[in-house]
Amino acid sequence: MATSITRPEPVFTEAPASWNTRYVTPEGFTCQITIRGENGKDLLEKAGIALSFLLEHGYKPEENHRHPRNTTSGHRQSGKWCALHDCELKRFEKDGKVWFSHKTADGNWCRGRQMGG
Ligand SMILES: [Zn+2]
Repeated sequence: MATSITRPEPVFTEAPASWNTRYVTPEGFTCQITIRGENGKDLLEKAGIALSFLLEHGYKPEENHRHPRNTTSGHRQSGKWCALHDCELKRFEKDGKVWFSHKTADGNWCRGRQMGG
């Protein structure tokens, strides 16, 4: 019988504490640093060393934390978007009337919502 030595791998019963921050280099690059420690105290000590290191070398904390969430493209916010087909509506104008619609795959015109009649 083959004896396989099952060596217990180092399992972290607790997730090591981690700390991260973003900073901007003097050249203007935004970088992210992640520090891991055995515990919170260890981590904070390392973080403090890292921060003083960054400050000594002219790095600055990232100031702009307010990133606008552009998860969707801008034209969705224009309101002229067909929620039924998830596509953009085109603007049409005739005899003083303006409407928005798009052509569907089966050749019909959709106005972005179900019209009565
Ligand atoms: Zn549609």
